[in-house]
Amino acid sequence: MIEIADGIFVRRHTELDLTLGLVVGSGDALLVDSGMDPALARQVRPSRIVLTHNHFDHVLATEAFLPCEVWAHEDCVVDDSLLDDRAKYYDEPFEGSLVAPTHTFRDTVTLDVGGRRVDLHHFGPAHTSHDVVVHVPDAGVVFAGDLVEQGAPAQAGPDATPANWRHVLDLMLELDPRIVVPGHGEPVDARFVREMAIPAAT
Ligand SMILES: [Zn+2]
Repeated sequence: MIEIADGIFVRRHTELDLTLGLVVGSGDALLVDSGMDPALARQVRPSRIVLTHNHFDHVLATEAFLPCEVWAHEDCVVDDSLLDDRAKYYDEPFEGSLVAPTHTFRDTVTLDVGGRRVDLHHFGPAHTSHDVVVHVPDAGVVFAGDLVEQGAPAQAGPDATPANWRHVLDLMLELDPRIVVPGHGEPVDARFVREMAIPAAT
């Protein structure tokens, strides 16, 4: 875990270059995506996980952190269909249980993480139908999920809406973030997001 701002950490993974986030308040913590490594649950005990979207690499380890609240957009479906996608990357079967969101929202919701304000936003479809942007205003940090990737092009699968992607990024940049944490790769700045290429529909 690397501290990128006061009480804001990222955990980088060689596996798929995945990036998870942790927001720490007074006696409380919120994890941004559960990822694929249950061992992380031995280091951090968040009271909440926010799933940025339902792609398998962002959600498979949720079970390891229970009990905790699992937040996501109301259209975020976590079911066995995710495992079909995982099977394209990994031969061995997934051992564990998928955990569906316990708390959902539509447009925006504000959470209190140990006295610290954290806003969840959905700005419309882009990488998926239900992308969540996590904003920590006091730190100027935004967790963008796979709306942004560093080190590799952003990815548009069959569930993406590339035509709306730039609009969603523009709304995210209106939060005026100092640091944008991508779903894969190293943290970037607003300029990187303004200049990044939007993937074509596949
Ligand atoms: Zn994704």
